[in-house]
Amino acid sequence: MGSTEVSTTCPYCGVGCGVRADVAPDGEASVRGDPGHPANRGKLCSKGSALGETIGLDGRLLHPEIDGRRTDWDAALDRVARRFQDTIAEHGPDSVAFYISGQLLTEDYYVANKLMKGFIGSANIDTNSRLCMASSVAGHRRAFGEDVVPGIYEDFDEADLVVLTGSNTAWCHPVLYQRLLAARKARGTRIVVIDPRRTATADECDLHLALDPGTDVLLFNGLLAHLARAGVLDRDYIAASTAGFDQAVALAAADAPGVEHVAKGCGLAPADIRFFYELFSVTERVVTVYSQGVNQSAHGTDKVNAIINCHLATGRIGRPGMGPFSVTGQPNAMGGREVGGLANQLAAHMNFDNGGDVDRVARFWNAPEIATRPGLKAVDMFRAVGEGKVKALWIMGTNPAVSMPDAGRVRGALKACDFVVVSDVTRTDTTRFADVLLPAAAWGEKDGMVTNSERRLSRQRPFLAMPGEVRPDWRIICDVAIRMGFGTAFDFVNPAAIFREHAALSAFENKGERLFDLGALADLSDEDYEAFQPRLWPARSRRQAGRLLGDGRFPTPDGRARFIAVRQEGVALAATSEYPLALNTGRLRDQWHTMTRTGAVPRLMANTPEPMVDLNPHDAAAYGLADGDLAHLSTRYGFSRARVRVTEAQRPGQAFLPMHWSGHFAANSGAGTLAAPITDPHSGQPELKNVPLRIMREEVA
Ligand code: SF4
Repeated sequence: MGSTEVSTTCPYCGVGCGVRADVAPDGEASVRGDPGHPANRGKLCSKGSALGETIGLDGRLLHPEIDGRRTDWDAALDRVARRFQDTIAEHGPDSVAFYISGQLLTEDYYVANKLMKGFIGSANIDTNSRLCMASSVAGHRRAFGEDVVPGIYEDFDEADLVVLTGSNTAWCHPVLYQRLLAARKARGTRIVVIDPRRTATADECDLHLALDPGTDVLLFNGLLAHLARAGVLDRDYIAASTAGFDQAVALAAADAPGVEHVAKGCGLAPADIRFFYELFSVTERVVTVYSQGVNQSAHGTDKVNAIINCHLATGRIGRPGMGPFSVTGQPNAMGGREVGGLANQLAAHMNFDNGGDVDRVARFWNAPEIATRPGLKAVDMFRAVGEGKVKALWIMGTNPAVSMPDAGRVRGALKACDFVVVSDVTRTDTTRFADVLLPAAAWGEKDGMVTNSERRLSRQRPFLAMPGEVRPDWRIICDVAIRMGFGTAFDFVNPAAIFREHAALSAFENKGERLFDLGALADLSDEDYEAFQPRLWPARSRRQAGRLLGDGRFPTPDGRARFIAVRQEGVALAATSEYPLALNTGRLRDQWHTMTRTGAVPRLMANTPEPMVDLNPHDAAAYGLADGDLAHLSTRYGFSRARVRVTEAQRPGQAFLPMHWSGHFAANSGAGTLAAPITDPHSGQPELKNVPLRIMREEVA
């Protein structure tokens, strides 16, 4: 590779910023924001701008290994294929599973999903995106009939009110937040932040509602009831485009009979709630952004629908500056949803519970053994591994030994599992459990497609040669599939060929019943694929798509959206005398996931060099802790350690721990070790925002 600048896409968050990358002849890599990319218009955040400093071979996996010893690719791939075949022959297809990642590119995701669902015949393939946005997927399907984000980033520029709920946008989607602040400066956009913590996002807002954990449904049910009482409803829209309004508003009114009731239930001042409800009522152009604070909950799907109900009631969906807007955590969480990379999806927005979809996909893939029912979602999958029901597991590009809830139990399950394959870029806490370790290509070497939070497809392009014996994920998966005897279905020559098949499947017998349709891209030449410019889906024609659902027609059998009647359920686990605090977890501005990449950059480590637990001064005093003390944290599930940071940003009774650290700091450390394996009944997404916690001073010997 020379010193030509290459246009690619950031590998971190779901904003999906365009990056121009260059490697000088001396090997020095540099990156800058791509001014031509519509998602970021040249801007990058602290993580994105440090990408050039993450490129190096320290800790890289360069050769395949079996049982910790270097081997060649043929031996490694033969071992994986044979062990999976033997396990399936002896115990059936549901005895094997794949756990994959929102870091994978769409083409990697596509072939992994095709292999497991189409040819192995099990739907035991799930992704770490289950921990990220599964509740939004379930909420969208319930309300709209399909997993559709109606809005686009331009809505941030055109809204008069942006409600940020369960989203520390300033740190987790920084470039989008900068875009919102620019709009606020230009047009005076009002901002309401709904979050138990006073985060950096709340530094610039008109109102911060620091509600009690788990009370979001009550707050939005109260809003729906208020809109009805105040007569701020779009009656024509409700009549023409929706169903279920009467039941939803009746339950909301019973659940949240007045502002005083909501205020008491949410732990908020009545005046603040009135201000929020009035602002929402009188402002036509409202965008409500929601992220992990809503999704990562035992009642996340109901929270999503409580928000969408308020937008349906006012007809504020899919029009400029209006709509509910789920922002995804990972760079290709959306692409994974498109290929069906979740255990309860099939492919291309088709589903197991939808009439002829299984038959349609089976015919397209020529896959008579296709799975016919959903598989195990992430938490259940690792439970099944621990119980010995799943006997062969392939983990791709993710670190569940740290990131899964009840991570100590997950580590035990991996240790006990008969056969574990891990493909990844570096050694992680998870790779030490691998019987077979496969070195995968990293960002800068990978070649394929990703989709960001606004449905914009964008290319990741290589600008570095693959080091050692590294191979791209799609190639590794296809090579195993071929060895398992599924040759002709996996004889792809490059990512472009996979993408063409994915696009063709999305359009196959799709007579407009699904919005996800890439039919116009099904015959892209290799050259067109190489030159691909970012574009929104659907892509039925050459015309660029934009907002969706603004015409009041929805991809449901009767064309109407659904109000979902939801009730406030509270938190799944309440604090006790033994575990008196509520532990919340989340991201820091400068770190990404379990720090396998960002942890290598000194300037990203400088701000918070070790895990900090945030405590209110009242709680710090009550537990005899001072700023900088080392604290021992424990829940029913495990223990960890962190340095205490005393801050008024944290409400009394609550604590916050970043999700990023693992064995870097202390054995058995990490937020996942403390978290409960309790999941939302609709989405299977685990509760990562509230687990009862005990804290005490760690005595250092
Ligand atoms: Fe990357 Fe997200 Fe930062 Fe953009 S905002 S540079 S996509 S981490």
